[in-house]
Amino acid sequence: MKPFYIPEDFPVNEVEFDKRFYDENACYDYLFQNRWPDGFVCTKCGHTEYWFTSRKLFICTNCQFNHSLTAGTIFHGTRKKLTLWFKALWWFTTRKTGINALTLKALLGLGSYNTAWKWLHKLRSCMIRDGREKLSGQIEVDEIYIGGQHSGKRGRGAEHKLAVVVAAEKNEKKLGRIRLQVVRNCSGDELLPFIKANVESGSTVVTDGWKGYSKLEKTCYKHQQVFQTKAKNKESVLPGVHMVASLIKRLFFGTYHGRMDGCYLQCYLDEYTFRFNRRNTKYVGKRFFRIVQQTVNTLPFNRKNNILNNISLLVTS
Ligand SMILES: [Zn+2]
Repeated sequence: MKPFYIPEDFPVNEVEFDKRFYDENACYDYLFQNRWPDGFVCTKCGHTEYWFTSRKLFICTNCQFNHSLTAGTIFHGTRKKLTLWFKALWWFTTRKTGINALTLKALLGLGSYNTAWKWLHKLRSCMIRDGREKLSGQIEVDEIYIGGQHSGKRGRGAEHKLAVVVAAEKNEKKLGRIRLQVVRNCSGDELLPFIKANVESGSTVVTDGWKGYSKLEKTCYKHQQVFQTKAKNKESVLPGVHMVASLIKRLFFGTYHGRMDGCYLQCYLDEYTFRFNRRNTKYVGKRFFRIVQQTVNTLPFNRKNNILNNISLLVTS
């Protein structure tokens, strides 16, 4: 996504939200200002004048190219009102642990649980911003397992269990931003590309002695290894990633009652990352604003992993 300045205009609380987004035009105006913060610009020829049609299309007066604010976004082809979608976005982004399909169905009066569930997955597809900033400074990296009854050897060993690599930024002693990614196994072929995609070069990567990280020495990172001793278990040598791991396991056990489809794990991890990285945001409305920006400026990601289709995860407490 091309970086550009967008004035941070958002409702700071639910009262302001309800006052502002009470009809379709208000929602439409908000999408417009987030797509074209400096006014309309034709994507084809750069012209700045347009006609607005009754079918809510913006037509460039120079080259006649049609622009739709919703084409390709999560709102594309919806028969439901934007006011309902905005409300779903608001609840989804501003509540501390999000919202589940049953609650969304009840609050919005949606026809079925299935519709609410699909809406939530569409919202999850906007969690990741293309070209987001990488983690930097000191980063702890380790793998954890979601699902399964017992902790086993590294790799996708047991059924009902998937490996997730966790990167956690440390700002002095405080935890900064995180990244989470489902991996097929814990070899260097999976771990190194994850680090390269998510950590700024020159950063210090802190790992345990696992051989999957041994090639880090030859890369643009400073590699610091920490080792377990009798006095220090893994939780105390890599405290950041293990705190994140216990929070995730608690969330999955509580929210999904210990059972979920493995193919959706990455989507839930993306949602968790979005919330975690914005946990200290002063105004809840800013999270809503970020997602609206992402819906109109980047195509939704399909992060469902069909390879993991037949894996039903058992998440134990
Ligand atoms: Zn044009």
